[in-house]
Amino acid sequence: MPPGADVAGNIDSVRRRIAAAAQRAGRSPTDIRLVAVSKTFDALLVRDAASHGQLSFGENRVQEGAAKIAALSDLALEWHLIGHLQSNKAAKAAALFAWIESVDSVELLQRIDRAAVEAGTRPSVLIQVDLAREVTKHGATQDRVSDLVQAAAGLQAATLRGLMTVPPIPERTDDSRQWFQRLRQLRDDLVSAGAAAESLRELSMGMSHDFEVAIEEGATIVRVGTAIFG
Ligand SMILES: *Cc1c(COP(=O)(O)O)cnc(C)c1O
Repeated sequence: MPPGADVAGNIDSVRRRIAAAAQRAGRSPTDIRLVAVSKTFDALLVRDAASHGQLSFGENRVQEGAAKIAALSDLALEWHLIGHLQSNKAAKAAALFAWIESVDSVELLQRIDRAAVEAGTRPSVLIQVDLAREVTKHGATQDRVSDLVQAAAGLQAATLRGLMTVPPIPERTDDSRQWFQRLRQLRDDLVSAGAAAESLRELSMGMSHDFEVAIEEGATIVRVGTAIFG
């Protein structure tokens, strides 16, 4: 463990902040899932977090995630893939990750579903939305999202659960708020237009620097790395 890392203390502190933000928004803290983002951190730190009751973890690379999943297979952990997924790694991801949060094309969605059928897994998927149309960002542009939602109705093994976004790096914490509001609005618009509410219940938004703002704006999943692992 790096000197000074107090994973258990950090988890407690993040959980307290989640509860406070939920309370401000009149929401229940139990409606918010904390995904501890363990990318670049050692499996031993994940084990440490798990012994403190943290069971959901996020990785942004299939390969790195696969190694940790294997090293920690004695624990009942829930793994989320939160990074860009290349289609040639879709089969591996569908076999290993309970959640794939970074689906950004109909082709990738269908590839994951076919792989999940073969692997006998039932991954939950989120559509990653690139709201700001940043050239450096992955994700479906807003106008493509309804195609993905429609395609999800035909899935056999994978299940669409909602939307995910990574907004532009904010100068001030509150800069993220408009993007979180837009993701929620996009979800509400899709449901108004006839999409099944159940398939869009989850909003994965908010990281170490802005998860409280995200919760105020309706996040059901927050992805927190540095505030937990240092
Ligand atoms: C790294 C990462 C996070 C966590 O970021 P922190 O700032 O360390 O909390 C969340 N989401 C995605 C997609 C990431 O790549």
